[in-house]
Amino acid sequence: MSTIWVLGAGQLGAMLKQAATPLGLNVRPVDIESDEILNLASNDIVTAEREEWPTTKATEQLATHKNFVNLNTFPQLADRLTQKQWLDRLNLATAPWFPIKQDSSSEHCYSTLGERVLLKRRRGGYDGKGQFWLKQDEATEIPEDWKGHAIAEQAINFDEEVSLVGVRGKNGESYFYPLTLNLHINGILYASIAPLHRLNHLQSKAEAMLSKLMEALDYVGVMAMECFRLGDDLLINELAPRVHNSGHWTQAGASVNQFENHIRAVAGLPLAPAEVKNLSLMVNLIGVPVNYDWLSTEGIELYWYKKSVRPGRKVGHINMCSGDTTKLNKALTKLDAQLPEPYQEAIKWLKANLPE
Ligand code: ATP
Ligand code: MG
Repeated sequence: MSTIWVLGAGQLGAMLKQAATPLGLNVRPVDIESDEILNLASNDIVTAEREEWPTTKATEQLATHKNFVNLNTFPQLADRLTQKQWLDRLNLATAPWFPIKQDSSSEHCYSTLGERVLLKRRRGGYDGKGQFWLKQDEATEIPEDWKGHAIAEQAINFDEEVSLVGVRGKNGESYFYPLTLNLHINGILYASIAPLHRLNHLQSKAEAMLSKLMEALDYVGVMAMECFRLGDDLLINELAPRVHNSGHWTQAGASVNQFENHIRAVAGLPLAPAEVKNLSLMVNLIGVPVNYDWLSTEGIELYWYKKSVRPGRKVGHINMCSGDTTKLNKALTKLDAQLPEPYQEAIKWLKANLPE
């Protein structure tokens, strides 16, 4: 049987492997720093849990395999400049933006994009890292070492943030999970909730946007699209050519989760619409030590990544899924007492978004 190799051995690789196990498939996440000689067979398949990587002994072996799915898409989406150019070319709405060049001035940013402008590094940003706010009233200047390496975006006064996770197969068929509502604090995802009846009217619009992209890129596997919702409009914030944190709830709340769907797609196995069960909540564990008392709450599903705990680092997540909102509400109250700041804000937000 062929092996599905995953470039990267973080939590996403581990969860891809976990999801493939019941299907009897071999999944091998590979640490990018490994200097092992990988026993790649010609009919093996290669995928990735991250959108960019340095050239190492491990990544070189994987990236030269003929069955690396979406290999050419990664560099195009990993660079925010070319990602935005793709979105523009396809007429998909984003925040107004332009590239920061060697001769760009902060005055030009303010006069074109307004008094609050977000600079984003073209490469390597995640969890709000690689962002820099320009504020006209504080006369903030573009840092010299960002020139040529960043894009500028207008600050969007969005109503809320939603994301769409979809999967596309080798024959072009695609399926989507219901829109997920997300809360970011300081640029990092803290909590998600899905599905919400009140977002249903945006579902087909979001699906059309992500379909257009996946088709244009001839993409195979799971892709996530993060959006800002302004009234009934969606602006695309960013794309992730991989399984995504805002899709983690599908482990509890869907008959086929995003990880299994990605594996099915890259392996060329049949896809089908996932049955979505009840209402799901996801709470990211960020910079907090593991506390197995969390497990004393009915309905809690804990994923602990076994990473060392550092402030701002994603070290696990908690999923819950139930058709009983009173139960979810109770579980959140219990969690509230077991988590530090700023979880009170995240839990309050989740409770406020529970349907009546
Ligand atoms: P990820 O970890 O999802 O890859 P990231 O750090 O790469 O995130 P973005 O998703 O671009 O970067 O931004 C993180 C968060 O910052 C967004 O979810 C949103 O809350 C806020 N943000 C980003 N762009 C804007 C904008 N133009 N206006 C207002 N807020 C923004
Ligand atoms: Mg993001």
